[in-house]
Amino acid sequence: MHRPRRIVIAGGGTAGWMAAAAIARTMGRTVEVTLVESDMIGTIGVGESTIPPLQVFNRLLGINEADFMRATSATFKLGILFDNWKEQGHRYFHSFGFTGKDHWSAGFQHFWLYGRAKGHSQSYDDYCLEVIAALGGKFAHLPDDGMNYAYQLDSTAYAAFLRAMAESDGTTRVEGKIARVELDSESGDIAALVLDAGTRIEGDLFLDCTGFRAVLIEGALHAGFDDWTHWLPCDSAIALQTESVGPAVPYTRAIAHDAGWQWRIPLQHRTGNGLVYCSRYLSQDEALARLLGNVEGEVLTKPNILKFGAGARRKQWHRNCIAIGLSSGFMEPLESTSIHLIQRAILRLIRMMPNHSISDRDIAEFNDQQFEDMRQILDFLVLHYKATDRRDSPFWRQCAAMDIPDSLAQKIELFRETGRVFRKNEELFAENSWVQVMMGQGIVPRTYHPVAEKLTDDELDRFLGMLRETVRKTVATLPDHPAYVARYCGVQ
Ligand code: FAD
Repeated sequence: MHRPRRIVIAGGGTAGWMAAAAIARTMGRTVEVTLVESDMIGTIGVGESTIPPLQVFNRLLGINEADFMRATSATFKLGILFDNWKEQGHRYFHSFGFTGKDHWSAGFQHFWLYGRAKGHSQSYDDYCLEVIAALGGKFAHLPDDGMNYAYQLDSTAYAAFLRAMAESDGTTRVEGKIARVELDSESGDIAALVLDAGTRIEGDLFLDCTGFRAVLIEGALHAGFDDWTHWLPCDSAIALQTESVGPAVPYTRAIAHDAGWQWRIPLQHRTGNGLVYCSRYLSQDEALARLLGNVEGEVLTKPNILKFGAGARRKQWHRNCIAIGLSSGFMEPLESTSIHLIQRAILRLIRMMPNHSISDRDIAEFNDQQFEDMRQILDFLVLHYKATDRRDSPFWRQCAAMDIPDSLAQKIELFRETGRVFRKNEELFAENSWVQVMMGQGIVPRTYHPVAEKLTDDELDRFLGMLRETVRKTVATLPDHPAYVARYCGVQ
């Protein structure tokens, strides 16, 4: 019989415990999982807004949704409301839903644009169930995944929930600070982690989930870092929690200010708030004063001051070490993509789990795929800053003037000229997301696909009217979001 492969996870934040829970559950007795975490160092303590694929992750682990939501005080999330991004006073919604009805040859935006040219004045949002439900504060599970959603959750509670699962599936937890990473003198691979107290933890495969410290992948293996701060200039955040004021809405808010933006994430019992900013244009004291001036409800926690730099670890899998979570790189939380990248890395690793030895081909494939995911997300985030009419502060003038990646320039110009968006290589954000954000940021296509003109004026009226009516009627049947959450979680 083969001895189980020894997997050592360094770090017990969201990344560490998601990895432990998923690997222990999926791989069972074929692996021996040990997780080391330091209570003294603690976790980053933010990361509350997610995107829909987290449903898939939880389902793969056999997690009951109501149990999970109760444990993490989660609410449902239908998208993000962006205020002041195109210009001050303007808002738009990026939903997880599908807008209208596509033809195989052309997305719905083409039909909407044709309708607009014919005098139809309704907003693009009126054709999206998730937008209208969200703005009305409504939610319910609909048959056939009729409404696409994610969660707003307490990430510390999520890690604790996963820890209980991982431990019951056999993961061993070791408390202590990693003082030294021991490399094999011949291969250069990691041989063991040596803790402060002298304990030595040997392994075959090491997951670096130590957050921004990147103790293994950078500290010991010097995997290198691609700096993306010239595209994403925000480098600081202050986070704090407040008591809830009013009913929890099923969406996250991203409110732009003159040197960054502010988030508001409603959970069942409280609200997560944070100010993301560029330290070149706003001091920490000013940022804190601004955040405190803009939160609603009593402040429940001390401000959590965070510094970061956008970028990606060049080799996320290097030798026998895989960086997962903040150790693998970071892009600011504007579209709630970090936990998703953790999920993708874990599922990818499980698909590429080495058997007797690590394959260089697996390493190359993993790095390629993970890096491509990050590059695509980078484009999507940069879009929010670049495509703006704001010129009212040095920060926004810098954003408007910056060079952007060629891939993003192609996407923007193609959309502007033709209304077309293509999803390449399983890109996370699909056509619907790109269209909503591009139009939300003020990029309106000059023309539309000619297939839209197949519809006569009457057919177009009926088609658009029927779609709006379906959205309106469905939303009218939905309960209020907080009442639905309370009932679903059995907390009322
Ligand atoms: P951490 O939580 O920092 O965990 C690191 C772990 O390593 C800890 O257990 C620590 O004790 C341990 N450790 C470190 N060094 C040592 C050592 N020497 N010895 C032993 N243990 C050690 N993501 C989202 O998806 N949605 C969001 O809304 C979102 N908002 C964010 C807002 C901000 C401002 C920031 C900065 C990030 C946000 N993120 C968000 C990202 C999200 O917080 C992280 O992706 C997620 O929490 C995972 O963090 P982690 O587990 O990699 O690191």
